[in-house]
Amino acid sequence: MVSESFGNFDLVKRVDVSYSPIRVSKWRSRVTGLSVVHIDYEAPIVKGYFAVATEIFNDSGCPHTLEHLVFMGSEKYPYKGVLDNLANRAFSAGTNAWTANDSTIYTIATAGQQGFLQLLPVYVDHILYPTMTNSSFVTEVHHIDGKGEDSGVVYSEMQGRENTSGDLMALRAQRAAYSPTSAYRSETGGLMEALRVLSVDTIRDYHGSYYVPHNICLIVAGKLSTEALLGVLQDQVEPSIIQHGKAHGPRPEGWKRPFLETPSVEPPVIRGLHSEVVEFPEKDESTGEMAMYFVGPSPKDQLTMKAIDLLGIYLTDSAASPLTKEFVEIPSPYCTYVAFYEDTRSTFSELAVYFGSVPSEHLDTLDERLKATLQRIVAEGLDMDRMSSVIARDRLKLMSALENSGGDVFSNVIINDFVYGDSEGGDLDKSLGEYYDVLKTWTSKDWTNLLSKYYDAPSRLVVRGKPSAALAETLEKKEKARVAAQVEQLGPEGLARLERELAAAKEEHEKHIPEEVLTSFPVPDVNSISWISVQSAKSTPSSSAAQKSGSSELEKHIQKDATPLTMQVQFDHVHSDFTSIHTLMSLAQLPDDLRPYAMLYQMCLFNSPINRPDGTRLTHEEVINALDKDTVAYDSGLGMDGVFSELLRVSIKVESTKYDSGIAWLRDVIFQSEFTKERLEVTLAKVQQSIPEMKRDGNSVTRSVFNDLAFDSTLTSKNAGVTSLMEWIPRMAAEVQENVQGVIEKLESVRRLITSPSAFRFSVTGNILGLPTPKASLAANFKNLAPAEPQALRWSSDALTGLGKNPAKKAVVLSLPTIESSYAIHASQAFVGFDHPDSAALRIALEVLDGTESFLWKYIRGSGLAYGANMGLSLESGLVTFGLYRSPNSYKAFQEAAKVVRGLCDGSIELKQTSMDAAQSSLVYALARRVASPGKAAITSFVNQALKGVSQNWEQDVLAQLKAVTPSQVLDVLKRYVLPIFDPSASIAVVACAPGKADDIAAGLTSEGFEVERRTLEVDATELEVVGSIEGSESDDGGSSSDSSEEHAHLDVHPELR
Ligand SMILES: [Zn+2]
Repeated sequence: MVSESFGNFDLVKRVDVSYSPIRVSKWRSRVTGLSVVHIDYEAPIVKGYFAVATEIFNDSGCPHTLEHLVFMGSEKYPYKGVLDNLANRAFSAGTNAWTANDSTIYTIATAGQQGFLQLLPVYVDHILYPTMTNSSFVTEVHHIDGKGEDSGVVYSEMQGRENTSGDLMALRAQRAAYSPTSAYRSETGGLMEALRVLSVDTIRDYHGSYYVPHNICLIVAGKLSTEALLGVLQDQVEPSIIQHGKAHGPRPEGWKRPFLETPSVEPPVIRGLHSEVVEFPEKDESTGEMAMYFVGPSPKDQLTMKAIDLLGIYLTDSAASPLTKEFVEIPSPYCTYVAFYEDTRSTFSELAVYFGSVPSEHLDTLDERLKATLQRIVAEGLDMDRMSSVIARDRLKLMSALENSGGDVFSNVIINDFVYGDSEGGDLDKSLGEYYDVLKTWTSKDWTNLLSKYYDAPSRLVVRGKPSAALAETLEKKEKARVAAQVEQLGPEGLARLERELAAAKEEHEKHIPEEVLTSFPVPDVNSISWISVQSAKSTPSSSAAQKSGSSELEKHIQKDATPLTMQVQFDHVHSDFTSIHTLMSLAQLPDDLRPYAMLYQMCLFNSPINRPDGTRLTHEEVINALDKDTVAYDSGLGMDGVFSELLRVSIKVESTKYDSGIAWLRDVIFQSEFTKERLEVTLAKVQQSIPEMKRDGNSVTRSVFNDLAFDSTLTSKNAGVTSLMEWIPRMAAEVQENVQGVIEKLESVRRLITSPSAFRFSVTGNILGLPTPKASLAANFKNLAPAEPQALRWSSDALTGLGKNPAKKAVVLSLPTIESSYAIHASQAFVGFDHPDSAALRIALEVLDGTESFLWKYIRGSGLAYGANMGLSLESGLVTFGLYRSPNSYKAFQEAAKVVRGLCDGSIELKQTSMDAAQSSLVYALARRVASPGKAAITSFVNQALKGVSQNWEQDVLAQLKAVTPSQVLDVLKRYVLPIFDPSASIAVVACAPGKADDIAAGLTSEGFEVERRTLEVDATELEVVGSIEGSESDDGGSSSDSSEEHAHLDVHPELR
């Protein structure tokens, strides 16, 4: 092998992925031991995953608390938030991180390479030399406040998680499976009682042992020059490692590789059937959860790991798969979903089977039922036709994912390889290999042997999560008693001292980042971003008659197909192996009483029997199996790309060679589906069973009540909100029992109305130039559509209520017994239209308020008033919103936000150029990300031109407008559009909160001038008989991905994805 090096870095291993133009190179410094993996592929976004193997043998939460402290400042940059401030300037939406059971991963994504390389040494400085001060420990990890209550960012986070069913069950499983010497037993997030006694010195020691260069791997995914990357590390990172005396080469003496050279290497010992019951606090005792665990193969056995993955898909992935059919797709389901998971460990893997929302009466017996079913499958053998379609489809999905995300698809594989793989790169080849060709040759016997060996093993661990209302009460009482004792013990003096310490710690963090630290970091050139080009052409009934001549390659190609079309179709070509066909049908002409039936019609698509025009009838299972064979993805939903929800969208993605059959499917699904009593029952039962779970989600309840207030009954999508579902799902379930024919007739009326010729719009995206006749198949399959121009689009602004158009005075405070904090939406009306002259300035203004490390971040999140505070803007409805997520008291957070906005408007809070720069740069990232893959770029081209009525490359146009926005324009739009949110005479509000908080919040809003209406959402035991999530549908680059929606929203930063 040719040895290659660059400065201190030697090439350890290079793999060219055989099935995609991606090259993976692993480098390591012979001086410091620092590892770097570059996953090289074409993409406008560069991503970083900086991994540390973090093993811990107790529940102190050192890995997780340290993860938080890393963001509090570093040796060279000793300011809280400086990293995100600089990240924003580097065309990024900020940093993130997560702590898993075996590693902590720090992430960053930037548009273009320049910003990434600038930020890299700053980020690594934070990881290697975080300040870890006492004061950051106090605010970020744990403290006792002046009232004697325990708090701190990590503490509150774990408080929100520790007693949830998921965490309780996972921890119980870890304790039951692993020996006391194994690190896999630990709660790496930190248990509350351990966090209460944790000291910053313990975290510092932990950092000293594990955050060493030979235990860190910088994974970089995307297009950038490897020399430039290694150059930055060589010149800006390595010298400081050497200076700190931490350069001991790849394998210092005495170093024990985490998990592999420690007692954690031992696999779990489970003897026979080991069963555990965990109670979790829940007032509604109707449903619990169940998990089963098995010990799986070594992660180095890639073939078996892949086979297990495919087996799980075969068993559970659709309504036609054996376990879903038996456990979920029945009128009284045993659970709302069953899923298989595999987790990589040192020399083995953990296999889990998880059942969601299990009615309590089935909790004790469900595992035996599964066992019997699996044994029956083993005895009967697999449906090999279906298995071969599962394999083929999984391969296509991988190809499609590679097209959409490039080498980023491999980031998890590379993280696992770093933690567990051969340090000389010996496993990398196999990890990046593909095993479909081998697995295609497997017989039914091979598969059933695998199933018996791993999932019918005599050794199994079953964990049952049982809801307990009594436990909810005891926990509350115990916690109150503990705090009372703590207050007693501390005494007034002790409390006063803690209060002072907390205030001092907060003050230290308010230390401003010197402007020159920020401005010395240049804002990269927007021209450094490469955009994916899309060729676009439109065919309308009139244009195809007139045969207007177009000049582009695509237009010529479309014209070559002389078939006249009766409908309007937009073609958007990108470099791709796939083609997606989308139909959008207007719901505008539906009478209001049919709108819930339109929702039901949508739920039944892809899930019902079909009578094909040639006379054959396919059962719903045959439909699903055939669709799985012929398509890569199929999906339906309201709206496209997060806008225009009054369009019912049905999408199918196929390999380009299957274009004709994709279109035929689309026609059959829309026109030929048959509504049967049995399928309607199952569809409604699944949604009904999921309603209790939806009611536990304060955020979606708030959103649902808000939509009820702001939009009238002509907005179909309102019927998808939890408060609407609570009303119409039981009603319709009863109607199906009493008069199914009546329901079917209404569904047929819906179909008739939304399939009238003028209701249709068509979009074809992907590899159009590769289609010999792009129009012929559309014409043949939709020949029943008479020529018609599409009806005018209905905007959500057309469905605003009086309060939605002119928000004023009204506030709803809803008591929700299933939550502990509060959630809020405050809204005012700005303007409607995607090309409004104020929209660029308003976008900047909102970003200035709620971007990472911005004003709301500091004043609200930073001071513990809410976990999240976001501004929202819908250019379709004109509503501009301020939202609060998990707030102890939303009214206090509202007051604080009002202070900030007023302060900015009256000049008492300065709007600095650096805030403007940060907002502009992070919007650059957001816009680039919207069009970062061929699939997204093609859909955006359609949505921009055909729906939003703006230019094809609107994102790039907006970029130029953003650049031109001045601080005075931002202040102007703040005054005109944002300030009104905090003025009761121009705004409305919806709050969902724990019953104990409702009085306070309502009183606060009343004192502000709102007319407060109190409501209560009861948890009604009788409606909780069944369980399920609304049919989750496929959507990779399909229309409904919400991340690219017009809503201006932020993920909360640093959530632990575990
Ligand atoms: Zn955290």
